[in-house]
Amino acid sequence: MKVLTAKGGEITISDELRAIVALLDDGRLMVSKSHVFNPHVRGFMGRLTHLKREYSVCQCDLAVIAGFYENSVTSESHSNMQVTAMQLFDRAVEARASDIHIRVSSRTRTQILFRIHNDLTFIEEHTFDFGDQLCTTIFQAMADVSDATFEKMSRQDARISEKGKIPANLDGIRIATSPQVDGYIVVLRLLYNDAAKDLDLGRLGFDSIQSAAVENLKKKPTGVVLIGGPTGSGKSTTLQRILSSIIASCHGRKHVITVEDPPEYPIVGAVQTPVTNMESEEDRSREYQKAIKAAMRLDPDIIMLSEIRDNPTGRLAIQAAMTGHQVWTTVHANNALAIIDRLVDLGVSQPLITDPTIVAGLVCQRLVKQLCPHCRRPLTDHIHEFEPRTQERFMRVLNVDTVFVRGEGCAHCKNSGTLGRTVVAEVIVTDDRLMSYLRANDRMAAQEYITKELGVISMLEHAIQKINEGLVDPLQAEEVVGPLAEITTEPERLALVA
Ligand SMILES: [Zn+2]
Ligand SMILES: [Zn+2]
Repeated sequence: MKVLTAKGGEITISDELRAIVALLDDGRLMVSKSHVFNPHVRGFMGRLTHLKREYSVCQCDLAVIAGFYENSVTSESHSNMQVTAMQLFDRAVEARASDIHIRVSSRTRTQILFRIHNDLTFIEEHTFDFGDQLCTTIFQAMADVSDATFEKMSRQDARISEKGKIPANLDGIRIATSPQVDGYIVVLRLLYNDAAKDLDLGRLGFDSIQSAAVENLKKKPTGVVLIGGPTGSGKSTTLQRILSSIIASCHGRKHVITVEDPPEYPIVGAVQTPVTNMESEEDRSREYQKAIKAAMRLDPDIIMLSEIRDNPTGRLAIQAAMTGHQVWTTVHANNALAIIDRLVDLGVSQPLITDPTIVAGLVCQRLVKQLCPHCRRPLTDHIHEFEPRTQERFMRVLNVDTVFVRGEGCAHCKNSGTLGRTVVAEVIVTDDRLMSYLRANDRMAAQEYITKELGVISMLEHAIQKINEGLVDPLQAEEVVGPLAEITTEPERLALVA
């Protein structure tokens, strides 16, 4: 029910008149029964007739009229608050949060936090009233049972599942509330549908800091992001996830074109242009270049090139970035800094590739087998099975107490001892200082800056994290990322001690 004569409504009237009449959108004109012959009311009726508005007069008590205006105000603020709530949900989904916590407290005001990859992150603070209105709106105007009243002082559960009220990649939002000493808390669990979960880089094995760095790279309007690694290191899967998530979050507002030789995965929402099979390497390269040039003429926002493999494709990727595109591509390189070397080797201009506005990000990755959780064995029970040299390495770099090693195999893992693979990676968002070291060929300063100032972990360190979490077998990790540590002590002496 809309009240047309409400403040800011369709028909403007004075406050005095508003106390005694209310025109509803169904044509009823509510008039206080003691004011039916009031000259202002008669005047208003004349105005409605003049406006050719049909209405029927209903006489009622003053309180009823006040009630109509009051409801119209709350429903209006509800709808404003609903927009605010939906923006909050969108932001949480964008941050890949699993939960939104709204703590409403008379002492500490309203705190909103997101749980992102298991960590609670403070998002923003508001007044008590803002939080109170937000929670009331979420509970009373958005949850499935529409007549539910929000009782702050009791524990309540509800759910939002109406499609128009939640972001597209959620199936629903589960609401749980509880009182606390000086207010209450509302926890919203975001129930992602599978398509959205599949886009989460965390599912591939990237850690939360790395995923956040990729989120940063997605927000840069121009620049090339290069993903390095040998064949079979999962680069294409990473690219596909990143592009799909960009497409999902921009709701078709970005034109995404891929040039792939050959296309490996369908990317819904992208224009994927394949490079047709060519006889010779030379023909392939020429076709590939033609396809990239054609793609750039198709007014793209984002271009994905399956690989930079020679000088022309390298130069075209840089050119695309310089002409205002976001470019995602892969290159054969063993670590993140080696990506720059690889481009230099291909003869791409060094000043351009060490410009952080042109080369925005360097990602490097490998795939490591994941331990079967059913048959893995604690390292501490089996450390004697390893050579002294190996034991020494493990003791020095690992938290041996939390490490697991591959077991005998079981039905779950088809006797292999492992289930699937996980990414170990290094993700660098470039900046002026890093690039100035690289321009000066000061590799040591660059590496130190990456580790100490940018706080980037190497693939080796990422692998060690996963070994320490019991997810990856240390020897299998070494097969992929190399020795976990150099030998420094005499292995024979250690053997004697053991
Ligand atoms: Zn089992
Ligand atoms: Zn198993």
